[in-house]
Amino acid sequence: MAQFQELARQQKKSEGELLIAALPRLQQALKTLGVEDSSALSAMRVRFQLQGLPPRFFGDSALPMLSLAVQAELPLVCQRCFAALPENLDLHFEFALADTPPEALLEDEQVDWLEEAADASVESLVEDELLMALPIAVMHPSDCVSLQQSAGEKPNPFAVLKNLKLGQ
Ligand SMILES: [Zn+2]
Repeated sequence: MAQFQELARQQKKSEGELLIAALPRLQQALKTLGVEDSSALSAMRVRFQLQGLPPRFFGDSALPMLSLAVQAELPLVCQRCFAALPENLDLHFEFALADTPPEALLEDEQVDWLEEAADASVESLVEDELLMALPIAVMHPSDCVSLQQSAGEKPNPFAVLKNLKLGQ
């Protein structure tokens, strides 16, 4: 898109914060992972910094370059015990802008290809990268502490509440 070209050519920086409302595909993916706390979701901020870099050669062609950094704390929950298991993401990417990517760009594992004419927005670019960084499943690495506790003498009040709801 033109804005990416502009940023790259002028080697300018663009940064901002996105709310979950601007990232519907991410919201859906988080829901699939069991994130249903809408206040945690609406409190979430995704920060991004896009920076134009000096052009770089891939084979014979010098291509406009962009770097993208994304930071977010995802309000994930353990899918076994439902306890909060937030995950901090701090992602960094470099993109070369091209209509058709030269072979040397496709072979470069450090640099991604951003289609020059693509009708992409910053939001969808950030969202794409967050979706790819999402874990497939979220769970405490070994045993769930809260399950062990509720198996003990005192029932977990939230577990009781859940059972009540299920019993209706
Ligand atoms: Zn757990």
